[in-house]
Amino acid sequence: MSSEQKLVLASANVGKIKELQGLLGGLGFSIVPQTDLNIPDIEETGLTFVENAILKARNAAALSNLPAIADDSGLEVDYLQGAPGIYSARFAGEGATDATNREKLRDLLSGVPDDQRTARYQTVIVYMAHANDPTPIICQGTWEGAIAWEERGDGGFGYDSLFYVPGYDCHAAELDNSTKNRLSHRGKATAALLLKLQSR
Ligand code: IMP
Repeated sequence: MSSEQKLVLASANVGKIKELQGLLGGLGFSIVPQTDLNIPDIEETGLTFVENAILKARNAAALSNLPAIADDSGLEVDYLQGAPGIYSARFAGEGATDATNREKLRDLLSGVPDDQRTARYQTVIVYMAHANDPTPIICQGTWEGAIAWEERGDGGFGYDSLFYVPGYDCHAAELDNSTKNRLSHRGKATAALLLKLQSR
């Protein structure tokens, strides 16, 4: 792959775009967010992270004629039998925001003791060379943690201010970008993807 390979990033999520640009950009990829090309989000009709990531990457590749990368991710809370999962971005329903999603999560876990608040972030990141690519590269990453009682920190996005990071005794939103990228589900999946792309 050439050192200046142009890739379209199939996301409109500003927090995610920032992280993925940091993770992929330094390695010679020129990353174009799909919003810069006026590519609209596609409806996430899949029932798994894999299906949704492929839907997003295929849509972006088809409308840009560029290779595409998409990440579908979410938070699994054990006490909630894995919810919000693939519905993490829309947990609080129509018009959900990161703040309303966190508020709903806090409400559902109100009074739940510490040892039952375990959770993890999941991501599946997909690379498609073109819209009809029959062998997309698929990499997965997981980040174990727990849901805190109160929010802390103003970095990151989504559920980060509620996500307690064991071993660091802080919340994900308190980590600097490079530490989050090293520990996170997205950082792990992206590292695996880069290895696969480089060995093509
Ligand atoms: P997607 O855009 O459909 O993949 O939705 C991902 C959702 O999962 C985001 O909107 C967040 O709510 C949550 N999420 C995924 N990754 C992270 C993260 O690194 N920090 C915080 N929230 C995340």
